[in-house]
Amino acid sequence: MQPGNDSDDDDDAGPDASGEFRVPAALRGGAALPERAEVVIIGAGVVGLSIAYHLAKRGMTDVVVVDRGYLAEGASGRNGGGVRQQWSTEINIRLMQESVALCRRFAVELGVNVWFRQGGYLFLARSAKEIARLEKNIALQNRCGVSTRMLSPQEAGEVVPEIDLTGIVGAAYNPTDGILFPWPFLWGYARQAIALGVKVLTHTPVRALTAQKPGFTVETDRGSIQARRVINACGSWSPSIAKMLGVELPTWPIRHEICSSEPLKPFLRPMVSELSSGLYCSQSMRGEIVGGVTVPGHGSTHAMGSTLEFLATYSRRLVKLMPRLGDVKILRQWAGPYDCSPDGNPILGEPPGVRDFYLACGFVGHGFMMAPIVGKLYGDWLTGGERHEIFDRYTLGRFTDGSAAHHEKEDFNIG
Ligand SMILES: Cc1cc2nc3c(=O)[nH]c(=O)nc-3n(C[C@H](O)[C@H](O)[C@H](O)COP(=O)(O)OP(=O)(O)OC[C@H]3O[C@@H](n4cnc5c(N)ncnc54)[C@H](O)[C@@H]3O)c2cc1C
Repeated sequence: MQPGNDSDDDDDAGPDASGEFRVPAALRGGAALPERAEVVIIGAGVVGLSIAYHLAKRGMTDVVVVDRGYLAEGASGRNGGGVRQQWSTEINIRLMQESVALCRRFAVELGVNVWFRQGGYLFLARSAKEIARLEKNIALQNRCGVSTRMLSPQEAGEVVPEIDLTGIVGAAYNPTDGILFPWPFLWGYARQAIALGVKVLTHTPVRALTAQKPGFTVETDRGSIQARRVINACGSWSPSIAKMLGVELPTWPIRHEICSSEPLKPFLRPMVSELSSGLYCSQSMRGEIVGGVTVPGHGSTHAMGSTLEFLATYSRRLVKLMPRLGDVKILRQWAGPYDCSPDGNPILGEPPGVRDFYLACGFVGHGFMMAPIVGKLYGDWLTGGERHEIFDRYTLGRFTDGSAAHHEKEDFNIG
């Protein structure tokens, strides 16, 4: 097979006879850049790929996704895979109910096992203030049909007997939240989008973006594409793309570290999260304990390196919470960027005054779980279907026209 031959890409897009996933030619680099496209999506993280798949599924296949690196290079390949419906605003609860439904169907619809397991999320409180916050959120979640309930410390101990309950004053537990394995999620979207006709071009950095009225010229290291519409799905790198059109985004990157232990016999069903420290951990299907903790003071950075400070903070907190983990070995440590926004919510739709340029960024530490539904809603809207209220509510303009003040700030920003 020759790189750059489109028909080879098509031949290569599906599973082989054994059902195993084969890497399509385009994703190995070197595939030809088309001269024009209806839609160019910049960024092949989970958000860009979900949008591409949903556009193609609804018949819009003249779509090109470009990424400067490999699939899963950004935050999408570095996250904890948590998917929850415990949120503090109605709009996010309802979005995440739909995302969970999409995750449940993912393996069947996209033909890849994403190891989605609904073992619940257990949020632990250590103060009356945290209990009050959880109770307020639970009332809202219950009104939306999410079955979260408040647990006493003893009841929390029945869900996870390994927790040391000293200082725990209560917990919020929703058994239908869950975790998934992030990488096959990206491969599933990419493979099916390619099978439907989308071009996904890795190792293709965008260097310039110019408005042409109509449309845009997207200049990459490997040539230019004339696009009628452009979607900026560059995660925490989105400001640099927006700036090319004179659009300032109020988002900033924060390095978030995470690590994984040796595999253990399965014992931990839910994702456990401690509100006071930002500690979270879950057990993967392979048995590893995957988790992180908030380490303040890392500043706004794209640095992806790992630190001993994180490892020490995480280990201390984790062993305090679950003393039996004290002898467990950490095998792998890595970091990725949170794409922070001022109110903790994503930035979507067209920026004020710029037509046909769409934003899909600012997902903080929860873009993976939101990508399925946001991609679907973008797919509906841009193919002439319903325009969901999130495209009016989560606009860039909310930060400048005063409307952000009328929306609740999302206070549940743990992954
Ligand atoms: C440690 C960690 C744990 C997390 N845990 C969770 C969790 O449990 N649950 C959850 O829902 N979310 C979690 N998140 C957040 C989640 O990973 C992100 O919100 C999500 O992956 C964002 O996806 P994205 O597609 O917007 O961005 P990314 O995955 O970052 O993709 C952006 C892409 O844009 C590309 N790009 C950048 N500049 C250019 C350019 N000039 N030209 C072309 N391409 C470019 C990059 O190469 C990258 O591939 C976590 C994040 C981290 C870092």
